[in-house]
Amino acid sequence: MTLSPATGPLLYEGKAKRVYATDRDDVVAVEYKDDATAFNALKKARLLGKGAMNCRISALLFEHLEGLGVPTHYLGLHGDHWMMVRPVKVVPVEVVVRNLAAGSLCSQMPIAAGTPLAPPLIDLYYKDDALGDPLLSEARLERLGVVTTDQLQAIRTLALRVNEGLRGLFGQVGLQLVDFKIELGFTAAAELVLADEISPDTCRLWDLGVSDAQERILDKDRFRQDLGGVVEAYGEVLKRVQGVCPEPRVYR
Ligand code: UDP
Repeated sequence: MTLSPATGPLLYEGKAKRVYATDRDDVVAVEYKDDATAFNALKKARLLGKGAMNCRISALLFEHLEGLGVPTHYLGLHGDHWMMVRPVKVVPVEVVVRNLAAGSLCSQMPIAAGTPLAPPLIDLYYKDDALGDPLLSEARLERLGVVTTDQLQAIRTLALRVNEGLRGLFGQVGLQLVDFKIELGFTAAAELVLADEISPDTCRLWDLGVSDAQERILDKDRFRQDLGGVVEAYGEVLKRVQGVCPEPRVYR
């Protein structure tokens, strides 16, 4: 078991991660938990090994995106389920990019699951568990006043770059990126960067080599839909991504 790199207090605890202060004010430590939640935490479980896998997958994806010029909060790994990152002021907007219709898009719109969406559809949600992360309209976002028009444009541009970068990587390893959610934040220097995590908890990934609509699922939908094999699916994603990416760096 790795020693905790957290030398300061717990700053924030979310459903899948804890964020701690360190002895540097420009670095925070993120612990990836084995907890799985769905449907706004109505469904809960502990999935042994999930935290470590998501931590490693996120590190590989952040480093891949960084190589493509996408700024991120990621600094490096510490042990198997800790990641060191730059502290950011998180924008309270969840940005979902959809390449194929799935999930809430299909339950809220007359659109069949699997319908290709080109150009990709971007949906914005207000990050507020008590309100159930509601879908935002442009007018509501403007009324909230959490981002300026220019910042919103920068967020959309970044989200599409992330989509292109992830689609390319996942495509190389036989995975279809159906949709994903990202969160963004501002650093102390007011730079907009990709934050949070990118993992099978936050992406829909389908195995391109499998035609069965349930068997091809390699993401959190296995947990949401009680399909079993959740940790195995995440392990498969890790194995494939690891196969084409350099070893993630260790934070020193
Ligand atoms: N997502 C997420 N966190 C959320 C909501 C959605 O990571 O709080 C991800 C989800 O895993 C999927 C994408 O965002 O990859 C789109 O999710 P959708 O809006 O279809 O919602 P869901 O079907 O999860 O209700």
